[in-house]
Amino acid sequence: MVDERRTIDLRSDTVTRPTAAMRAAMAAAEVGDDVFGDDPTVNRLQAMVAERVGAEAGLFVPSGTQSNLLALLTHCERGDEYIAGQSSHTYRYEGGGGAVLGGIQPQPVELQPDGTYDLHRLATYVKPVDAHFARTRLVCVENTISGQPLPPAYLPEIRRFADEHCLAVHLDGARLMNAAVHLGVDPIELARGADTVSICLSKGLGAPVGSVLCGPAELIERAHRWRKVVGGGMRQVGILAAAGIVAITDHVDRLADDHANAATLGDAMGGIEGVEVVAVATNHVFVSFAALDIADLNGALADRGIRVLGDGRAVPMRLVTHLDVTSDDVASVARAVAQIVADRG
Ligand SMILES: *Cc1c(COP(=O)(O)O)cnc(C)c1O
Repeated sequence: MVDERRTIDLRSDTVTRPTAAMRAAMAAAEVGDDVFGDDPTVNRLQAMVAERVGAEAGLFVPSGTQSNLLALLTHCERGDEYIAGQSSHTYRYEGGGGAVLGGIQPQPVELQPDGTYDLHRLATYVKPVDAHFARTRLVCVENTISGQPLPPAYLPEIRRFADEHCLAVHLDGARLMNAAVHLGVDPIELARGADTVSICLSKGLGAPVGSVLCGPAELIERAHRWRKVVGGGMRQVGILAAAGIVAITDHVDRLADDHANAATLGDAMGGIEGVEVVAVATNHVFVSFAALDIADLNGALADRGIRVLGDGRAVPMRLVTHLDVTSDDVASVARAVAQIVADRG
């Protein structure tokens, strides 16, 4: 049922629409052929994002998936192996790109509840140098993971581990800015120790498209070649990078609003009979429902213009706050859920 009210879309922070300021910046963007390195707006964005994470160079790419793929292709060769969390994006949600396109074998490892590896266990997955085994080359970490920031002391530990085992470190920091804002630390502190860092502009930062892969100039040069190979060389793409510049300039500090809205939503949902708040982490709220028929609940929410993901039973319902969700919106969502629960009870 479609009505006059606007939709409150809590499925992901990828659903945001570009702001008026972004559209104005896009319309006015100075552009050039970025395959020749001629686009001044892309060059500016790459330098800005690299600086924000303390890296030498950056590469603008169409998606976080491509950014992670380029990292795998840059760090590993055919017959090599990368380690990633069982639930990490690089292993689970990217179509097996490293294996499909790079002949790179994944070694998934179960993560602890806080999203970290148990380093003793991790060591058992690093293969000996022996013709029987793939060559373990890279360990991937993700921050935030399921909305949860990693402990700030963790990446230095991973760096030490990687050095002991001659591995590179890739940080999938799709939502690294959420972690930095939540912890009140400079993102440089959270990126230190990683060889490469991927930052998504199209999640909480609200740009319509794009990620930036950051690292030492020599690695980014190699990633640049792979970007061309996988078809990610775009031309007058400053038109998109301009939105990214607005995102990285104006939309980092305001992530605190999304986190506050998520906390408010979590509190309100926790007060509703039959609703269990499984976790609240940065801009993510996970809830499950003891007794409700979930298809019925989702239908009733959709009737009220509220969109959510997950079945709320086997998979907790995931509610994600973002640029297009206001504090009034989260209050409306909690009221709607309470009303639906009361009606069914
Ligand atoms: C969304 C996401 C990606 C992939 O980004 P896309 O732009 O959707 O391809 C990678 N890693 C993490 C942790 C993400 O949340």
